[in-house]
Amino acid sequence: MINLFEPVLGEEELAAIGEVFADGWLGKGKRTRAFEAAFADHLGVAEEQIVSVNSCTEGLFLATELLEIGPGDEVVLPSVSFVGAANAVAARGGKPVFCDVDADTLNPGTAEIARRIGPATKAVLVLHYGGCPGDVATIAALCREHGIALVEDAACAVASRAAGTACGTFGDLGVWSFDAMKILVTGDGGMLYAKDPALARRAAELAYLGLRQLSGYAEAGTRKRWWEFDVGPFGRRSVTNDICSAIGMVQLGKLPSFVRRRREICRRYDARLAAVPGLRVPPRMPPGHESSYYFY
Ligand SMILES: *Cc1c(COP(=O)(O)O)cnc(C)c1O
Repeated sequence: MINLFEPVLGEEELAAIGEVFADGWLGKGKRTRAFEAAFADHLGVAEEQIVSVNSCTEGLFLATELLEIGPGDEVVLPSVSFVGAANAVAARGGKPVFCDVDADTLNPGTAEIARRIGPATKAVLVLHYGGCPGDVATIAALCREHGIALVEDAACAVASRAAGTACGTFGDLGVWSFDAMKILVTGDGGMLYAKDPALARRAAELAYLGLRQLSGYAEAGTRKRWWEFDVGPFGRRSVTNDICSAIGMVQLGKLPSFVRRRREICRRYDARLAAVPGLRVPPRMPPGHESSYYFY
């Protein structure tokens, strides 16, 4: 038996968890804020555009809520995608409209998506299969042209880039996963990117009980009745915590080495499998594309 999803974890992660214990605070706190800032930096976006969540699936559900997908709205997504993506559309009464994927890359092509866009289309929700960026730049241009939103499920694409831009940041919203089977793992966890910082703030409210003012403690004594919380939208509780974030911070530092090793293995598969009769190896990516090498 070969465990395909064995994470790379070591003494550094254990030491980071030890520091959280020493802090005496396990919840969402300074280590989560530091991880959000470091992840924003990794993507090349502003900290105000990033919100940590407890899973990528929750990020997908937040995304359809932020876009106010509702009955009568269509969302175009690839036929090969994560079950949570179509669920996040259908759970709000929206209609998932599936488009075909390219037989070689398993990513959706721009032309296939264009064929499915109609008057009821409110958004396109793509993923980067196996970590390959795919046609994301032209898909983003297509969405802008039609005035519809683009959501990227970048769960497989934590280190993927196209022409220097991080996957997940081409569109309006992007989501990542740090669950136990991913490249960068925190046990459970995820991130959400919103191009519009106001949407990121709304996501933070929805992910934490709908609280408008996230830290009364920080305002202690600075205004009257600072201990009262203003509750806005019907929020849930889908925040992460400092234990997961401490692990994530160490994993983020190791990410370049993870990707290097995965690239080596990919090259080896390419070389050894190319001559096997009946097998077709994945095509080389276009110049300027960088994969996370999640699946081969
Ligand atoms: C793993 C994965 C998810 C789900 O992530 P969770 O953090 O487990 O919710 C979503 N989309 C894709 C493409 C994935 O690979």
